[in-house]
Amino acid sequence: MKTLVTCALPYANGPIHLGHMVEHIQTDIFVRYLRSRGDDVVFLCADDTHGTAIEISAEKKGVTPEAFIAEVSEDHQAVFRDFQISRDFYSSTNSPENKHYAELIYNRAKDAGFIGTKDIEQAFDETAGRFLADRFIKGECPNCGTKDQYGDACEKCNATYGPKELKNPYSVLSGKPPVWKKSTHLFFKLSQHVDFLKAQLAKPGFMNQGLAAQLGQFFEKGLADWDISRDGPYFGFPIPGETNKFFYVWLDAPIGYISAAEAWAKATGKAKSALDYWAKDADARIVHVIGKDIVYFHCLFWPSVLTVANLKVPDYVHIHGHLTVNGEKMSKSRGTFINARPYLDVLDPNYLRFYFASLLGSGPEDLDFSLLEFRQRTNAELVNNLGNLANRSLSLLAKDKKLAPANDAVGGALVREALSRVKEIGDAFEKFDSRTAIKAILEIGYAANQFLAKSEPWKTIKTDPEGARSVLSEAAEIVYLLTALLHPVVPELADKLATQLNRKKLSFKELATAQYPLLDRSQPIGDASPIIGRIEAETVEKLIATTPEPVQKKASEPKKKEEVAAPSEIEFGDFAKVSFRAGKVLAAEKVPKADKLLKLSIDLGEAAPRTIVSGIAEAYTPETVTGRNVVVVANLKPRALKGIESQGMILTAGKGGKDLVLLDPGNVPPGSDVK
Ligand SMILES: [Zn+2]
Repeated sequence: MKTLVTCALPYANGPIHLGHMVEHIQTDIFVRYLRSRGDDVVFLCADDTHGTAIEISAEKKGVTPEAFIAEVSEDHQAVFRDFQISRDFYSSTNSPENKHYAELIYNRAKDAGFIGTKDIEQAFDETAGRFLADRFIKGECPNCGTKDQYGDACEKCNATYGPKELKNPYSVLSGKPPVWKKSTHLFFKLSQHVDFLKAQLAKPGFMNQGLAAQLGQFFEKGLADWDISRDGPYFGFPIPGETNKFFYVWLDAPIGYISAAEAWAKATGKAKSALDYWAKDADARIVHVIGKDIVYFHCLFWPSVLTVANLKVPDYVHIHGHLTVNGEKMSKSRGTFINARPYLDVLDPNYLRFYFASLLGSGPEDLDFSLLEFRQRTNAELVNNLGNLANRSLSLLAKDKKLAPANDAVGGALVREALSRVKEIGDAFEKFDSRTAIKAILEIGYAANQFLAKSEPWKTIKTDPEGARSVLSEAAEIVYLLTALLHPVVPELADKLATQLNRKKLSFKELATAQYPLLDRSQPIGDASPIIGRIEAETVEKLIATTPEPVQKKASEPKKKEEVAAPSEIEFGDFAKVSFRAGKVLAAEKVPKADKLLKLSIDLGEAAPRTIVSGIAEAYTPETVTGRNVVVVANLKPRALKGIESQGMILTAGKGGKDLVLLDPGNVPPGSDVK
């Protein structure tokens, strides 16, 4: 079956940063793997181009929105190309194809009775002559009084509120206080799709089940109908049959997935139209890759719109976590983000492709771009293990470019063992679990390096040249295997290996039936050279120099260590008896007459929450602990503390008293194993 794969559409209001690259690199790995095993795949993306923010940016630059988004698109596409993202087509939501499908989908939803109207009150800037989105109004936080906060949330105290609640509000455009005006907006009746959505979320393989369960809370609260219109002036498509109303950018953005397929079909002739993939009964699989911040739109709104429009609902939505840099959240306001272009100015894209691949699993957990670990792991794994294996074996063979005849007694076991791992590696790539794939590939590389180290052909080549050639030729089999295994992750390096072997790259399709020996030993090999050099500390520092202050500080200030006594040893079996699980604190209260204790109600993914009494009251208040993810010893016998039965224990670190921190298992569903 043919597959259509998309990344979320980058917003055309700024440059591509490393957070985007997490998504585009993992999607590219998935797509390259599918192609390598012989699947029919089309990999599409587009810029998301509409909305007030784009219009304002264009105005600031003194150009039309169309000229502005054209320039941004060129920049985005160049970055993706330089990161070797193997896209089939890159489109724009400001295209005639997208206008066509936005109108078609809207008209079908309207004809089916799923569009309604509601009067809403919205801030209006009389000087600028336009309605103001929440982000275009600032004022004092109604909760803590901090000045210059946006109309939807406070960056100081994290309170969320409506723009009308701000004290002394002003328009970002004119600096004047907004007036409040009534306007009739169009709504998509999402509330009528609850049964459909419940069934869709429960479909096996549609999305991560933990996140599907989280979306379930919206059904309990009641799904709100969705405002899909904005009043003009607005950079977007006019709504058919309405005056001065435009589709809200979030309505036509996902439709870009369909229109990109239409534009690709027109440009290449490889399909009749987008409907080859998007018709309700199309014989195709649709895979979206998105970050967990836009799950609501992709897993509730988008399937509902598609089903109303009689189009195909995506088969799988792959959801990844967010990128942190040196352990801190990437944030424009805090200046902790690295743009993709400055990275490319100092470092090879293959390093980042490899590093992200080695971190990414199939779940939505966050990943950290630790500059130190990035350099150390890439040097140890990509350069030393895999790169050196190739260079050690091929450089000695390259002198006269001849391979020895296959000798099963020398290399058969090594190669067969490596081939036996191919299925597991392919399965991991298919599940977006490149971390597992990389681990297996590194084990293959390690075994081949051990194999060479045992025979030391670089020593014996003087005394026993044919014996040494035999050993090196068997190691070259593994290098040949790597041309297929590494291709999805670092395609350019796999190409280099193939050139040095003077062969075409192997594919996963060929590997499905491959047997020892993989190389035709009668054919000569090519010239050898290192496929990639080490990352030097100075180079990473250059990358740091291009990023703002907070990152630098964190990287260069190691924390002081205090000496602690080594604990006594226990058997592994004793340790293995303890069941650690991730939990979420649902509620907390003080325990009467016990200053140090809090009584916690903790969700462990079980039928009912557990009650756990914990001595953290000097470090945490009920307010600061509620909502936290914690690590729980789940199989401790219940014990009574101050007359309350405590059903487990939560883990903390620190000296005790006020000096205690909760161990955080990260953003995993309650009940997850902690190992
Ligand atoms: Zn505040």
